[in-house]
Amino acid sequence: MDGPMHIHIAEAAVEWLTGDCAAFWKPLRKIIEKASNYPDYFATSAEKNALIDPDWREYTMIPDVDNPIAHAIFKPLKLRETYPAIINHWTAQTIACLKSGNNEKAAKFIGCLSHLIGDTGQAAHVFDERPLKRLLPQGDKRFIFHSTMEKVMGKIEAQKYDVKILGGSIKELNWRLIEELEILKQHNTAEVIPILKAIMDGDNHAAEASASRSVTSCAELFADLLVSIWNIASGKKTGLKNEFKLQDLVPVDQACDMLFNYEIMLDRIPGKTINEALTLNLGGEDVHGLALLADMAPFFSEVRRAFVEYSIPRNVFEYFESEIGLNHHSVNDTKAVFKVKLDGKIVFTSEALGKDDSGVKIKVKLGNAKRLQLYVCDARPAPCDTKFFYPVFANPKLTGRI
Ligand SMILES: [Zn+2]
Repeated sequence: MDGPMHIHIAEAAVEWLTGDCAAFWKPLRKIIEKASNYPDYFATSAEKNALIDPDWREYTMIPDVDNPIAHAIFKPLKLRETYPAIINHWTAQTIACLKSGNNEKAAKFIGCLSHLIGDTGQAAHVFDERPLKRLLPQGDKRFIFHSTMEKVMGKIEAQKYDVKILGGSIKELNWRLIEELEILKQHNTAEVIPILKAIMDGDNHAAEASASRSVTSCAELFADLLVSIWNIASGKKTGLKNEFKLQDLVPVDQACDMLFNYEIMLDRIPGKTINEALTLNLGGEDVHGLALLADMAPFFSEVRRAFVEYSIPRNVFEYFESEIGLNHHSVNDTKAVFKVKLDGKIVFTSEALGKDDSGVKIKVKLGNAKRLQLYVCDARPAPCDTKFFYPVFANPKLTGRI
């Protein structure tokens, strides 16, 4: 993301704040805006860096990693692997500075986090150029996808934003920030086609509208962070809900049949035509939830199975709850067995559930697990012949905030 856009994100997010939190951060706004470009500024020489901020090393060096320069570490395409070291360091530093009353330093550290958000949400950062080059041939034109997209300036027009709290503790905040960045990345991946199409068509208005959506979504997450981190540092009650919907997370891993585009589907599955999507139903009212489809390939000789896996915060919630069963709006030719795995270990196995069975409520203790996998398989012992079945985990959620 370009420098002026980073400043725009920081500026809008601080402007949206209200109450005591606004009274705290607003006087520090200029410092946050400047620091929102620190990770880019400090990519030059030590002399130049020192002119910008004599303490520049504190903001750009990350402890306990091979190459300590922040901007060399984070890769949006490998977010879950490369971000935690930076996030954990910068959130810890921000909170420590807030607690010790060093507000200027806190503003600089949180400004660096704003940069990380901007560079993650920018549509030019969320894809691999190589397949895109083949998906969108440039004809007689020649341009660099990355810099051409990044150059389009977006505007944040919203005057108001209702912040959401990302955690009641630094541990939960660090987990949730990774998850929110994955969501932000997914959200802005959906901007890649609109912005590139607008660029190819020479439609500046449409290109700017796309860039504006991206930059606004980054500012929203930064506003959430400003409030959440200030809340934690000042020991405020967070009013966080006792449950967290799993559909709101981006899976860490998943596998479904090709007929589901290899991934789980949320709330609806394909019907006969593209306009006839099927809703999910376990025998009563329609439900929201995750639909999976096991391998359906003919002559398949292994277990026909599908799964989805999530990263969950350790010791924040006590249970996983859901309702399981086959989708009554689909044709089911065989029964399914549902399993729940925590950190790779099976902790729940259902009876074989068939087409006439109604949904079964399940509740599983999470212990201190950090990976939750929802797994389904064909109930037949040797399912060589293809038989369709449509498992659903309805209203899957983490409950019982500890
Ligand atoms: Zn950058």
